Amino acid sequence: MDAVCKKLRIEPSLVGSVRIIRQSLDARKKPQLFKVQTVAVIFCDRNTARRMRAKHKLSPYVFPAYKPAVPGSKPWENPFVVVGSGPAGLFAAYFLAMQGYRPVVFERGADMAERIQDVEAFWEKGILNEESNVLFGLGGAGTFSDGKCTSRSKDPRVHQVLQVFIELGASPDIAYQNKPHIGTDVIRAVISRMKQKIEDMGGKFFFHSPLVGLDVEDGWLKKIHVEGHEPFAVEGLLLCTGHSARDTYAMLALQGIELVEKNFAVGLRIEHPQSLIDQLQWGESSTTLGVGAADYKLTYQDPVYQRGVYSFCMCPGGSVVNASSESGYLCVNGMSYAKRDSGRANSALVITVDVDRLEGKGPLKGLTYQRQLEKKAYELGGGGFAAPIQSVRDFLDNKQGEASPSSSVRPEGQQANLQALFDPATNECFKRALLDFDAKMPGFAGEQAVLVGVETRTSSPVRIVRNESFASVSVRNLYPVGEGAGYAGGIVSAAVDGIKAAEKIMEQYRRY
Ligand SMILES: Cc1cc2nc3c(=O)[nH]c(=O)nc-3n(C[C@H](O)[C@H](O)[C@H](O)COP(=O)(O)OP(=O)(O)OC[C@H]3O[C@@H](n4cnc5c(N)ncnc54)[C@H](O)[C@@H]3O)c2cc1C
Repeated sequence: MDAVCKKLRIEPSLVGSVRIIRQSLDARKKPQLFKVQTVAVIFCDRNTARRMRAKHKLSPYVFPAYKPAVPGSKPWENPFVVVGSGPAGLFAAYFLAMQGYRPVVFERGADMAERIQDVEAFWEKGILNEESNVLFGLGGAGTFSDGKCTSRSKDPRVHQVLQVFIELGASPDIAYQNKPHIGTDVIRAVISRMKQKIEDMGGKFFFHSPLVGLDVEDGWLKKIHVEGHEPFAVEGLLLCTGHSARDTYAMLALQGIELVEKNFAVGLRIEHPQSLIDQLQWGESSTTLGVGAADYKLTYQDPVYQRGVYSFCMCPGGSVVNASSESGYLCVNGMSYAKRDSGRANSALVITVDVDRLEGKGPLKGLTYQRQLEKKAYELGGGGFAAPIQSVRDFLDNKQGEASPSSSVRPEGQQANLQALFDPATNECFKRALLDFDAKMPGFAGEQAVLVGVETRTSSPVRIVRNESFASVSVRNLYPVGEGAGYAGGIVSAAVDGIKAAEKIMEQYRRY
């Protein structure tokens, strides 16, 4: 308030309140960092507001307002079912429950406490539970994630998603931070509370309950088949199964639901000491400066093959996680805790995959390619879910090194030549990109840089085709939602898609 009054040269009595709407760090004069805030000032009267606007060239600001859907009039007999409890499914269920639609949620994986045990057993001993892991279970792929809540969308529902996270325990700062981050520890607690709240509002959850089949008559879904349950009659089904439910895609294809292939990206995780990234970005250690661990974003367009290579899902102060979900197939990802204080920085380094150039036919050929890479990664690691790792220097020299480089991946890393994963053209693109990134950030491809294979689950390689009402073009009351449907990417965008899908239901049907 004081700083705003000083800047506007105005008496505090004329200012009602000041609210931060955006905050970022300016590092152009590093190691001197500046906190840059955009604030909304609410003046006590219109005249002052008008005067201040003219004098200081202030822009009017409208606070993002969410208008809930107006309920329709169609009666309903059977429940609205949400399959999958990732961000898309949870937000769809939350918004349906808030308006009295009492959703039933079927989730193939486990509830939070059991899931955490399963994931820990995997990371400690390499024992994979194919139904309860980093990708499957309450909270979906968002649970063991970095919890970055960034979104490029201007949709007011983005604000709504962050508000729900804040109400359920996330820091209020995420409402205005330029790069909001929650961390896996906080997001786990938030998700558990979200589930409890949905139940308190009349929703129901069933775990260890995978959807395995659909009964469709004349273009309408009548019943669903869920393992461990009797055939279940539904009014509408929100399919929020994420992009890792490969058996679910296969089931949908068999049932004649229209799917199309889509481009995606694959690559490797790159890991550095956080101190190196801090030094490069801030010119000083983030701890000394009292700011959060530094991140980066890098892009490269290969002039020979016309393919983009870029950093993706950068996790400052985090760790590389073994995110496998199938026996004999290995993939990695990145996560962090709220404090981002692991001392390690990692990011995916991925290359675009044009599905038209892949071998094979049909909408699932991108999945086949992902699985081929994951099988090779599993074998390169020597089995037992040791992740194949290599120093960047050895990758550039196309040789398997002697001393094992250090990585945060668990259960362990196994020295390998990661060039064995990809075709020569892809390796060439990665090599040129690494050298380009090293020129932009000296040391990026230096002796402390380590690569871990393989990153395949960046986005969905399939789209479940839907119309403007969010219904599948094949079945009128089947609503493909979120990342697995091919209409979202990331926690916030999947959550927004879930809210929009819930609204489509509410606009048609009357409340309970
Ligand atoms: C390790 C990791 C870190 C990540 N970090 C970030 C990040 O920092 N920021 C960000 O924005 N994004 C991040 N992501 C991506 C983000 O988590 C996803 O984009 C998001 O979770 C997608 O949401 P979704 O609800 O569409 O699908 P998912 O989260 O994949 O959820 C799908 C759910 O459906 C369930 N399911 C699947 N099939 C069936 C079935 N047949 N029957 C019943 N249930 C089923 C699954 O068990 C799962 O719980 C990360 C992902 C991972 C793996």
